[in-house]
Amino acid sequence: MGTLVKKIIVATGNEGKMKEIRQILGDGSIVFSSLRDENLQDVPIIEDGNTFEENAIIKARKISDITGQMVLADDSGLEVDYLDKAPGIYSARYMGEDTPYSVKNQHIIDLLDGVEDEKRTARFVCAIACAFPDGHTITTRGTIEGRIGYEEKGTNGFGYDPIFYVPEFGCTTSELEPEEKNKISHRGKALAAMYDELLKEKIL
Ligand code: IMP
Repeated sequence: MGTLVKKIIVATGNEGKMKEIRQILGDGSIVFSSLRDENLQDVPIIEDGNTFEENAIIKARKISDITGQMVLADDSGLEVDYLDKAPGIYSARYMGEDTPYSVKNQHIIDLLDGVEDEKRTARFVCAIACAFPDGHTITTRGTIEGRIGYEEKGTNGFGYDPIFYVPEFGCTTSELEPEEKNKISHRGKALAAMYDELLKEKIL
């Protein structure tokens, strides 16, 4: 008797995310397939939800409805408390999709000019959705708390990492090694919570 191999499609075109998902959820019995593997990278998806969870569900459900398969999707961003949680779900689109992060990061630093440490709190948030062919969907959320720095620091990571200072580590997430960041990151935590949910669903 052969082992039944299950497939989960991951609604992303980002190889870094695929790698992290395989590391955290992979147990040998599941094949993770990307949108490119499925030739679905050009399917238009309108992320018009009001929360990270809603946007993750929109992506996962759309691809699950097309393929009839289990689909994982994520949505993430930076919430700055002093800016009423902006850029939030608009993190990628903030100041325009093509604006370099050096410009976006300096803009946030400028908006917080003169703001004291205690009021510079911020967090990265990640919601992960898993959509099942029978129509039901589950979501998990992970966060990492930090503070907006006074200048960009570090060369690892991407996006807002150079201004995201983590007090416990005494540096920004851009100064951490990728493996160190994955252990404490919003995405790592949301994926670990999804691992538990998939166990409950008897998928893993
Ligand atoms: P998405 O969920 O991949 O669309 O990411 C949304 C946006 O949030 C990214 O383009 C980044 O601007 C920001 N973001 C999410 N996670 C991180 C992170 O770990 N570091 C830096 N920026 C992040």
